[in-house]
Amino acid sequence: MPLAAREHVATMMGNEWGEQMIKGWNNAGWMSLSTQIGDRIAPLIGAEPGHVIMGDTLSIKVHQALAAALALNPGRKVILSDYGNFPSDLYIAQGLIKTLDRGHTLKTVAPEDVSHHIDDQVAVLMLTEVDYRTSRKHDMQALTATAHAHGVITLWDLAHSVGALPVDLVGSNVDFAVGCTYKYLNGGPGAPAFIYVCPAYVNKVDSSLSGWLGHAAPFDFELDYRAAQGIERLRVGTPPVIALKCLEPALDIWDLVTIDQVRKQSIALCELFIREVESRCPGLTLNSPRNPQERGSQVSFCFEEGYGVIQAMAERGVIGDFRAPDNMRFGFAPLYIDEHDVMTAATQLEEVISNRLWDQPKYKTRATVT
Ligand SMILES: *Cc1c(COP(=O)(O)O)cnc(C)c1O
Repeated sequence: MPLAAREHVATMMGNEWGEQMIKGWNNAGWMSLSTQIGDRIAPLIGAEPGHVIMGDTLSIKVHQALAAALALNPGRKVILSDYGNFPSDLYIAQGLIKTLDRGHTLKTVAPEDVSHHIDDQVAVLMLTEVDYRTSRKHDMQALTATAHAHGVITLWDLAHSVGALPVDLVGSNVDFAVGCTYKYLNGGPGAPAFIYVCPAYVNKVDSSLSGWLGHAAPFDFELDYRAAQGIERLRVGTPPVIALKCLEPALDIWDLVTIDQVRKQSIALCELFIREVESRCPGLTLNSPRNPQERGSQVSFCFEEGYGVIQAMAERGVIGDFRAPDNMRFGFAPLYIDEHDVMTAATQLEEVISNRLWDQPKYKTRATVT
Protein backbone atom coordinates (compact mmCIF):
# COMPACT_ATOMS: atom_id res chain seq x y z
CA MET A 1 0.00 0.00 0.00
CA PRO A 2 1.46 3.40 -0.89
CA LEU A 3 2.11 5.16 2.43
CA ALA A 4 0.11 8.22 1.38
CA ALA A 5 -2.97 6.21 0.36
CA ARG A 6 -4.55 5.95 3.81
CA GLU A 7 -4.54 9.69 4.46
CA HIS A 8 -5.44 10.62 0.90
CA VAL A 9 -8.56 8.46 0.97
CA ALA A 10 -9.44 9.58 4.51
CA THR A 11 -9.23 13.22 3.36
CA MET A 12 -11.49 12.45 0.42
CA MET A 13 -14.00 10.73 2.72
CA GLY A 14 -13.97 13.62 5.17
CA ASN A 15 -13.68 16.72 3.01
CA GLU A 16 -15.37 15.57 -0.17
CA TRP A 17 -17.96 12.88 0.47
CA GLY A 18 -18.50 13.75 4.15
CA GLU A 19 -18.89 17.48 3.60
CA GLN A 20 -20.17 17.87 0.08
CA MET A 21 -22.19 14.68 -0.33
CA ILE A 22 -23.29 14.27 -3.96
CA LYS A 23 -22.28 17.84 -4.73
CA GLY A 24 -18.77 16.35 -4.96
CA TRP A 25 -19.58 15.11 -8.47
CA ASN A 26 -19.24 18.71 -9.65
CA ASN A 27 -17.33 20.50 -6.91
CA ALA A 28 -14.66 17.88 -6.23
CA GLY A 29 -14.26 16.85 -9.88
CA TRP A 30 -15.23 13.22 -9.34
CA MET A 31 -16.56 12.81 -12.87
CA SER A 32 -13.29 13.82 -14.53
CA LEU A 33 -11.10 11.46 -12.45
CA SER A 34 -11.42 8.68 -15.05
CA THR A 35 -9.76 10.72 -17.78
CA GLN A 36 -7.38 12.60 -15.47
CA ILE A 37 -5.97 9.37 -14.11
CA GLY A 38 -5.98 7.83 -17.58
CA ASP A 39 -3.73 10.71 -18.65
CA ARG A 40 -1.32 9.84 -15.84
CA ILE A 41 -1.17 6.19 -16.92
CA ALA A 42 -0.64 7.13 -20.58
CA PRO A 43 3.09 8.00 -20.23
CA LEU A 44 3.73 4.68 -18.46
CA ILE A 45 2.48 2.78 -21.50
CA GLY A 46 3.66 5.10 -24.28
CA ALA A 47 0.15 6.30 -25.14
CA GLU A 48 -0.97 9.70 -26.38
CA PRO A 49 -2.72 11.85 -23.75
CA GLY A 50 -6.49 11.72 -24.12
CA HIS A 51 -6.50 8.11 -25.28
CA VAL A 52 -6.65 6.21 -21.98
CA ILE A 53 -9.67 6.06 -19.69
CA MET A 54 -10.25 4.30 -16.36
CA GLY A 55 -13.22 2.29 -15.20
CA ASP A 56 -14.71 -1.12 -14.45
CA THR A 57 -12.56 -4.24 -14.15
CA LEU A 58 -10.06 -5.55 -16.64
CA SER A 59 -12.41 -8.35 -17.75
CA ILE A 60 -15.02 -5.73 -18.73
CA LYS A 61 -12.41 -3.70 -20.61
CA VAL A 62 -11.29 -6.83 -22.50
CA HIS A 63 -14.93 -7.33 -23.54
CA GLN A 64 -15.27 -3.79 -24.83
CA ALA A 65 -11.94 -3.77 -26.64
CA LEU A 66 -12.43 -7.18 -28.23
CA ALA A 67 -15.97 -6.39 -29.39
CA ALA A 68 -14.79 -3.08 -30.87
CA ALA A 69 -11.83 -4.74 -32.57
CA LEU A 70 -14.00 -7.49 -34.09
CA ALA A 71 -16.40 -4.89 -35.46
CA LEU A 72 -13.51 -3.22 -37.30
CA ASN A 73 -12.79 -6.47 -39.16
CA PRO A 74 -16.32 -7.70 -39.94
CA GLY A 75 -15.35 -10.11 -42.72
CA ARG A 76 -13.07 -12.21 -40.53
CA LYS A 77 -14.03 -14.70 -37.84
CA VAL A 78 -10.90 -15.80 -35.97
CA ILE A 79 -9.67 -14.41 -32.65
CA LEU A 80 -6.07 -15.53 -32.19
CA SER A 81 -4.60 -15.88 -28.70
CA ASP A 82 -2.25 -18.21 -26.86
CA TYR A 83 -2.79 -20.72 -24.10
CA GLY A 84 -0.57 -18.76 -21.74
CA ASN A 85 -3.14 -15.99 -21.76
CA PHE A 86 -4.99 -15.32 -18.53
CA PRO A 87 -8.18 -17.41 -18.47
CA SER A 88 -10.48 -14.42 -17.90
CA ASP A 89 -9.44 -12.94 -21.26
CA LEU A 90 -10.18 -16.27 -22.96
CA TYR A 91 -13.48 -16.69 -21.09
CA ILE A 92 -14.55 -13.18 -22.12
CA ALA A 93 -13.78 -14.02 -25.74
CA GLN A 94 -15.79 -17.25 -25.49
CA GLY A 95 -18.74 -15.40 -23.98
CA LEU A 96 -18.60 -12.64 -26.56
CA ILE A 97 -18.52 -15.19 -29.40
CA LYS A 98 -21.75 -16.69 -28.02
CA THR A 99 -23.40 -13.31 -27.64
CA LEU A 100 -22.46 -12.18 -31.15
CA ASP A 101 -23.51 -15.55 -32.61
CA ARG A 102 -21.84 -14.74 -35.94
CA GLY A 103 -19.59 -17.77 -36.24
CA HIS A 104 -16.43 -16.40 -34.63
CA THR A 105 -13.89 -18.83 -33.21
CA LEU A 106 -11.19 -18.47 -30.60
CA LYS A 107 -7.91 -20.06 -31.65
CA THR A 108 -5.41 -20.52 -28.81
CA VAL A 109 -1.94 -21.67 -29.82
CA ALA A 110 1.38 -22.14 -28.04
CA PRO A 111 2.81 -18.76 -27.02
CA GLU A 112 6.00 -19.29 -29.01
CA ASP A 113 4.02 -20.20 -32.16
CA VAL A 114 1.74 -17.15 -32.29
CA SER A 115 3.52 -15.43 -35.18
CA HIS A 116 3.15 -18.54 -37.42
CA HIS A 117 -0.61 -18.45 -36.96
CA ILE A 118 -1.14 -14.82 -37.95
CA ASP A 119 -2.77 -14.95 -41.38
CA ASP A 120 -5.49 -13.31 -43.45
CA GLN A 121 -8.24 -15.25 -41.63
CA VAL A 122 -7.51 -13.64 -38.29
CA ALA A 123 -9.69 -10.71 -37.26
CA VAL A 124 -8.06 -9.86 -33.94
CA LEU A 125 -4.79 -10.83 -32.28
CA MET A 126 -5.55 -10.78 -28.55
CA LEU A 127 -2.50 -11.31 -26.34
CA THR A 128 -1.27 -10.56 -22.86
CA GLU A 129 2.26 -9.22 -23.15
CA VAL A 130 3.61 -10.94 -20.01
CA ASP A 131 2.40 -14.43 -19.15
CA TYR A 132 0.86 -14.44 -15.66
CA ARG A 133 2.28 -17.87 -14.94
CA THR A 134 5.70 -18.10 -16.61
CA SER A 135 6.54 -14.39 -17.00
CA ARG A 136 7.37 -15.01 -20.69
CA LYS A 137 7.20 -11.71 -22.55
CA HIS A 138 5.90 -11.38 -26.12
CA ASP A 139 7.61 -9.08 -28.61
CA MET A 140 4.77 -6.57 -28.86
CA GLN A 141 6.29 -4.51 -31.64
CA ALA A 142 7.16 -7.46 -33.90
CA LEU A 143 3.86 -9.29 -33.41
CA THR A 144 1.85 -6.11 -33.97
CA ALA A 145 3.78 -5.44 -37.19
CA THR A 146 3.16 -9.00 -38.43
CA ALA A 147 -0.51 -8.68 -37.51
CA HIS A 148 -0.88 -5.41 -39.40
CA ALA A 149 0.85 -6.86 -42.46
CA HIS A 150 -2.04 -9.37 -42.55
CA GLY A 151 -4.80 -6.85 -41.84
CA VAL A 152 -5.25 -8.07 -38.25
CA ILE A 153 -6.35 -5.71 -35.44
CA THR A 154 -4.28 -5.98 -32.25
CA LEU A 155 -5.45 -6.03 -28.63
CA TRP A 156 -2.77 -6.16 -25.93
CA ASP A 157 -3.42 -6.85 -22.28
CA LEU A 158 -0.86 -5.03 -20.11
CA ALA A 159 -1.90 -6.49 -16.74
CA HIS A 160 1.63 -7.69 -15.88
CA SER A 161 3.42 -4.99 -17.89
CA VAL A 162 2.22 -1.61 -16.66
CA GLY A 163 4.53 -0.42 -13.90
CA ALA A 164 6.82 -3.42 -14.44
CA LEU A 165 8.53 -2.65 -17.74
CA PRO A 166 8.55 0.01 -20.46
CA VAL A 167 5.62 -0.22 -22.89
CA ASP A 168 5.48 1.80 -26.09
CA LEU A 169 1.97 1.58 -27.53
CA VAL A 170 2.48 4.38 -30.06
CA GLY A 171 5.93 3.16 -31.12
CA SER A 172 4.54 -0.38 -31.49
CA ASN A 173 1.51 0.89 -33.41
CA VAL A 174 -0.93 -0.98 -31.14
CA ASP A 175 -4.65 -0.62 -31.87
CA PHE A 176 -6.23 -1.48 -28.49
CA ALA A 177 -4.75 -2.03 -25.05
CA VAL A 178 -6.18 -2.76 -21.62
CA GLY A 179 -4.72 -3.33 -18.18
CA CYS A 180 -5.38 -3.34 -14.47
CA THR A 181 -3.91 -1.12 -11.79
CA TYR A 182 -3.77 -3.41 -8.76
CA LYS A 183 -0.67 -5.36 -9.79
CA TYR A 184 2.54 -3.35 -10.38
CA LEU A 185 0.74 -0.01 -10.00
CA ASN A 186 -0.28 -0.74 -6.39
CA GLY A 187 -3.79 0.68 -6.76
CA GLY A 188 -5.22 -1.66 -4.12
CA PRO A 189 -7.88 -4.38 -4.10
CA GLY A 190 -10.56 -3.66 -6.67
CA ALA A 191 -8.63 -0.81 -8.32
CA PRO A 192 -10.18 0.08 -11.69
CA ALA A 193 -8.85 -0.99 -15.09
CA PHE A 194 -7.86 1.15 -18.07
CA ILE A 195 -8.49 0.97 -21.80
CA TYR A 196 -6.56 2.54 -24.66
CA VAL A 197 -7.80 3.02 -28.23
CA CYS A 198 -5.43 4.38 -30.88
CA PRO A 199 -6.30 7.76 -32.46
CA ALA A 200 -7.22 6.21 -35.82
CA TYR A 201 -10.01 4.13 -34.27
CA VAL A 202 -11.17 6.00 -31.22
CA ASN A 203 -14.03 7.79 -32.97
CA LYS A 204 -14.92 4.77 -35.10
CA VAL A 205 -15.52 2.21 -32.37
CA ASP A 206 -18.84 1.35 -30.81
CA SER A 207 -18.93 0.30 -27.19
CA SER A 208 -20.39 -3.18 -26.70
CA LEU A 209 -21.50 -1.93 -23.28
CA SER A 210 -23.21 1.30 -24.30
CA GLY A 211 -23.93 2.69 -20.86
CA TRP A 212 -25.13 6.18 -20.18
CA LEU A 213 -21.75 7.65 -19.31
CA GLY A 214 -20.38 6.73 -22.73
CA HIS A 215 -23.20 8.77 -24.26
CA ALA A 216 -22.45 12.14 -25.87
CA ALA A 217 -24.78 13.90 -23.42
CA PRO A 218 -25.55 11.66 -20.43
CA PHE A 219 -27.51 14.30 -18.56
CA ASP A 220 -29.81 15.01 -21.50
CA PHE A 221 -31.29 11.56 -20.77
CA GLU A 222 -32.12 10.96 -24.42
CA LEU A 223 -33.83 7.67 -25.21
CA ASP A 224 -31.34 6.63 -27.88
CA TYR A 225 -27.65 6.00 -27.53
CA ARG A 226 -25.23 8.40 -29.21
CA ALA A 227 -21.55 7.76 -28.52
CA ALA A 228 -19.43 10.46 -26.92
CA GLN A 229 -16.44 11.80 -28.83
CA GLY A 230 -13.05 10.24 -28.16
CA ILE A 231 -12.06 7.84 -25.42
CA GLU A 232 -15.03 8.90 -23.23
CA ARG A 233 -17.20 6.58 -25.32
CA LEU A 234 -15.52 3.64 -23.58
CA ARG A 235 -17.01 4.67 -20.25
CA VAL A 236 -19.85 2.43 -19.11
CA GLY A 237 -21.41 3.60 -15.83
CA THR A 238 -20.60 5.54 -12.68
CA PRO A 239 -16.86 5.67 -11.96
CA PRO A 240 -15.53 4.03 -8.74
CA VAL A 241 -14.51 7.35 -7.16
CA ILE A 242 -13.01 6.03 -3.92
CA ALA A 243 -10.94 3.45 -5.77
CA LEU A 244 -9.80 6.12 -8.23
CA LYS A 245 -8.74 8.33 -5.31
CA CYS A 246 -6.72 5.41 -3.98
CA LEU A 247 -4.81 5.34 -7.26
CA GLU A 248 -3.63 8.94 -7.03
CA PRO A 249 -0.93 8.43 -4.38
CA ALA A 250 0.08 5.22 -6.18
CA LEU A 251 0.66 7.26 -9.34
CA ASP A 252 2.42 10.10 -7.49
CA ILE A 253 5.29 7.64 -6.96
CA TRP A 254 5.85 7.59 -10.73
CA ASP A 255 6.63 11.30 -10.66
CA LEU A 256 9.77 10.35 -8.71
CA VAL A 257 11.08 7.37 -10.70
CA THR A 258 11.27 6.36 -14.34
CA ILE A 259 10.07 3.04 -15.67
CA ASP A 260 13.58 2.45 -17.07
CA GLN A 261 15.06 2.71 -13.56
CA VAL A 262 12.44 0.30 -12.25
CA ARG A 263 13.01 -2.16 -15.09
CA LYS A 264 16.79 -2.15 -14.58
CA GLN A 265 16.41 -2.89 -10.89
CA SER A 266 13.70 -5.49 -11.52
CA ILE A 267 16.06 -7.41 -13.81
CA ALA A 268 18.83 -7.24 -11.21
CA LEU A 269 16.50 -8.59 -8.49
CA CYS A 270 15.13 -11.39 -10.68
CA GLU A 271 18.65 -12.44 -11.73
CA LEU A 272 19.78 -12.52 -8.10
CA PHE A 273 16.76 -14.62 -7.08
CA ILE A 274 17.26 -17.15 -9.89
CA ARG A 275 20.96 -17.49 -9.07
CA GLU A 276 20.33 -17.97 -5.35
CA VAL A 277 17.42 -20.39 -5.71
CA GLU A 278 19.15 -22.55 -8.31
CA SER A 279 22.22 -22.93 -6.13
CA ARG A 280 20.23 -23.59 -2.93
CA CYS A 281 17.30 -25.68 -4.24
CA PRO A 282 18.46 -28.01 -7.02
CA GLY A 283 15.09 -29.84 -6.95
CA LEU A 284 13.22 -26.81 -8.35
CA THR A 285 12.80 -26.12 -12.05
CA LEU A 286 12.85 -22.58 -13.40
CA ASN A 287 9.58 -22.00 -15.25
CA SER A 288 10.49 -18.56 -16.64
CA PRO A 289 12.71 -17.51 -19.53
CA ARG A 290 16.37 -17.33 -18.59
CA ASN A 291 16.97 -14.29 -20.77
CA PRO A 292 15.79 -11.22 -18.79
CA GLN A 293 14.79 -9.45 -22.00
CA GLU A 294 12.20 -12.18 -22.59
CA ARG A 295 10.78 -11.99 -19.08
CA GLY A 296 8.47 -9.72 -17.11
CA SER A 297 9.04 -8.76 -13.48
CA GLN A 298 8.21 -12.12 -11.93
CA VAL A 299 10.05 -15.42 -11.67
CA SER A 300 8.40 -18.81 -11.39
CA PHE A 301 9.64 -22.17 -10.26
CA CYS A 302 7.81 -25.47 -10.63
CA PHE A 303 7.44 -27.81 -7.69
CA GLU A 304 4.77 -30.44 -7.24
CA GLU A 305 4.05 -29.37 -3.65
CA GLY A 306 4.22 -25.70 -4.59
CA TYR A 307 0.94 -24.79 -2.90
CA GLY A 308 2.19 -25.88 0.52
CA VAL A 309 5.55 -24.19 -0.08
CA ILE A 310 3.86 -20.85 -0.82
CA GLN A 311 1.70 -21.21 2.32
CA ALA A 312 4.67 -22.07 4.52
CA MET A 313 6.66 -19.13 3.12
CA ALA A 314 3.75 -16.73 3.62
CA GLU A 315 3.66 -17.70 7.29
CA ARG A 316 7.33 -16.72 7.42
CA GLY A 317 6.62 -13.31 5.87
CA VAL A 318 7.49 -14.00 2.23
CA ILE A 319 4.35 -13.71 0.13
CA GLY A 320 4.27 -15.34 -3.29
CA ASP A 321 1.49 -16.82 -5.41
CA PHE A 322 0.68 -20.37 -6.37
CA ARG A 323 -0.68 -20.88 -9.87
CA ALA A 324 -2.02 -24.35 -10.59
CA PRO A 325 -0.90 -26.96 -11.30
CA ASP A 326 2.60 -26.56 -9.80
CA ASN A 327 3.80 -23.01 -10.40
CA MET A 328 5.28 -20.91 -7.59
CA ARG A 329 5.40 -17.28 -8.68
CA PHE A 330 7.53 -14.58 -7.06
CA GLY A 331 6.97 -10.95 -8.06
CA PHE A 332 9.79 -8.40 -7.90
CA ALA A 333 8.51 -4.86 -7.55
CA PRO A 334 11.58 -2.65 -7.01
CA LEU A 335 9.47 0.20 -5.62
CA TYR A 336 9.33 -1.77 -2.36
CA ILE A 337 11.51 -4.88 -2.77
CA ASP A 338 15.31 -4.78 -2.46
CA GLU A 339 18.26 -7.21 -2.53
CA HIS A 340 17.85 -7.95 1.15
CA ASP A 341 14.24 -9.07 0.58
CA VAL A 342 15.41 -11.27 -2.29
CA MET A 343 18.02 -12.95 -0.10
CA THR A 344 15.43 -13.47 2.64
CA ALA A 345 13.04 -15.04 0.14
CA ALA A 346 15.73 -17.38 -1.20
CA THR A 347 16.73 -18.38 2.35
CA GLN A 348 13.13 -19.07 3.36
CA LEU A 349 12.50 -21.06 0.20
CA GLU A 350 15.59 -23.15 0.86
CA GLU A 351 14.51 -23.81 4.45
CA VAL A 352 10.96 -24.76 3.49
CA ILE A 353 12.15 -27.12 0.75
CA SER A 354 15.11 -28.77 2.44
CA ASN A 355 13.24 -29.32 5.74
CA ARG A 356 9.98 -30.33 3.99
CA LEU A 357 8.17 -27.64 5.99
CA TRP A 358 5.42 -27.65 3.34
CA ASP A 359 4.46 -31.18 4.41
CA GLN A 360 1.90 -30.22 7.06
CA PRO A 361 -1.88 -30.63 6.89
CA LYS A 362 -2.46 -26.92 7.59
CA TYR A 363 -0.66 -26.00 4.34
CA LYS A 364 -2.69 -28.38 2.19
CA THR A 365 -6.18 -26.92 2.35
CA ARG A 366 -6.65 -24.63 -0.64
CA ALA A 367 -7.96 -21.18 0.25
CA THR A 368 -10.36 -19.36 -2.10
CA VAL A 369 -7.55 -17.14 -3.39
CA THR A 370 -4.26 -18.89 -4.08
C1 LIG B 1 -5.04 -10.04 -13.43
C2 LIG B 1 -5.57 -10.25 -14.80
C3 LIG B 1 -6.94 -10.13 -15.10
C4 LIG B 1 -7.95 -9.91 -14.00
O1 LIG B 1 -9.10 -9.30 -14.49
P1 LIG B 1 -10.11 -8.57 -13.48
O2 LIG B 1 -11.31 -8.32 -14.27
O3 LIG B 1 -9.42 -7.31 -13.01
O4 LIG B 1 -10.34 -9.48 -12.32
C5 LIG B 1 -7.35 -10.27 -16.41
N1 LIG B 1 -6.46 -10.50 -17.40
C6 LIG B 1 -5.13 -10.63 -17.17
C7 LIG B 1 -4.20 -10.88 -18.30
C8 LIG B 1 -4.66 -10.53 -15.86
O5 LIG B 1 -3.36 -10.69 -15.61
